[in-house]
Amino acid sequence: HAKAAGRNTFAIFGEHMDELLRRRRKLEQDLRLALETRSQIEAFYQPVYSAEHHGLSSMEALARWKHPEEGFIAPDIFIPIAEEIGLIHELGAKMLEDACSVMADLPFISMAINASALELGSDGYPLRVLSRLAKWNIDPTRLEIEITESLGFGGEGRSDRNITILRNAGVSIAIDDFGTGYSSFSRMQKLAVDRIKIDKSFIDTVEGGSKPLIEAMINMAQAKGLKITAEGVETDEQRDTLVALGCDSLQGFLISRPLGRAAVIDLYNGTKKQIFTA
Ligand code: C2E
Ligand code: MG
Ligand code: MG
Ligand code: MG
Repeated sequence: HAKAAGRNTFAIFGEHMDELLRRRRKLEQDLRLALETRSQIEAFYQPVYSAEHHGLSSMEALARWKHPEEGFIAPDIFIPIAEEIGLIHELGAKMLEDACSVMADLPFISMAINASALELGSDGYPLRVLSRLAKWNIDPTRLEIEITESLGFGGEGRSDRNITILRNAGVSIAIDDFGTGYSSFSRMQKLAVDRIKIDKSFIDTVEGGSKPLIEAMINMAQAKGLKITAEGVETDEQRDTLVALGCDSLQGFLISRPLGRAAVIDLYNGTKKQIFTA
């Protein structure tokens, strides 16, 4: 900025902050509008490969925001904003609705959705999820809810009670980004879940030092009877190592990138015969 070069650094900093704040407020307004109109934000679906069944067996719904002026905005940007301005519940409901409509079209497939800790910790969350499934006539055992580790879990709080209600109804719970959060072996002892998803950062370095860590996670998970997904698998070498170590599911660009509704329905319909046949 040639214009600002002569000013003192505080003025430059202030100007920059103003710009950031303006941009942020605009994003908030746009996000409200995007959720009200119910277009713009929709689910994409990343196929999950089952090493057990040697085929595609499920998928993960991932939020996409197609901003009218800015193009696609990443969930890592807009999810935290939705949480801060209280719109995460609407966003979660829209994602579940999209996911249900795909499950209705693909009755042989299961689906994972991501839930914010704020959703999971809120009164009535299990009822909202279960009544949405009932509305679509979808068996709760076909749904998995991914949660990231937070200090709120593994105790006696609302989140844990909600997890219990959902699991009693047949919904599975997975810990996302496993290994990067607050899990300790003592917390894992208390936490009743169905699956861990080993974070991509460990998968990236499986050939470069993190293999013993992954082995420890897998041993712990197997001892507790949990299923194990490897996240962010990008190479054949990673896939072979992770299957040999005991991961039952693989997800990553090697298998597929997240796909739009039509593409994922075509994919799963086309590969239907391979699914669940060992
Ligand atoms: P996540 O749930 O851990 O999802 C995995 C992320 O890794 C996705 O990014 C996916 O596109 C990306 N990914 C998958 N395989 C690969 C790979 O092989 N290489 C690379 N480089 N990336 C891969 P995405 O879609 O940008 O989502 C980021 C995060 O945003 C998600 O992480 C999740 O925590 C959050 N998120 C997405 N959708 C929702 C949602 O509907 N609700 C909530 N609460 N959070 C969501
Ligand atoms: Mg996830
Ligand atoms: Mg993850
Ligand atoms: Mg993540």
